[in-house]
Amino acid sequence: MTDITDITAAQNSLIQVILANTSSAMKISNTLCDHSQDKVLKADEIIGGLIYRLMIPMTDEEITESMASAEALMYDDSEDEDEGDIEENDFIVDDRDDLLITRTVRTNQCNCDICSQVRVCLCNFKDYVPKDELGDKFKRSIIDTCRAHNRII
Ligand SMILES: [Zn+2]
Repeated sequence: MTDITDITAAQNSLIQVILANTSSAMKISNTLCDHSQDKVLKADEIIGGLIYRLMIPMTDEEITESMASAEALMYDDSEDEDEGDIEENDFIVDDRDDLLITRTVRTNQCNCDICSQVRVCLCNFKDYVPKDELGDKFKRSIIDTCRAHNRII
């Protein structure tokens, strides 16, 4: 029998996994942005980061790091400015007009490992079969988000 505390614990660890995944995806988006010409974080970089994170498994080191920052986000209710990776980035997302135009997701021209991998992932995204139910959900939400914002992968 599962009691309510088991359910809550399971939900919390699921939330932590999702947060860890998201914060790691944002890190990738930031790298894509840093390595781009205009250095503006747009929907393209965000989509690229999410797709990369869905398709390229995290290393053990990345898992430890992202789980720790997710835990801090969930359980650290102090007002300190120490929210790590997410806090230190100044996201500038102002491409609302741009989102009215339907177009394919753009990538930068950088040839570093991450940026090249993102381009490969974008090519293979359509045929990619997620390994678990959570991956399925992530893939579907990426597709839905792109459709809603006129982006074609
Ligand atoms: Zn790069």
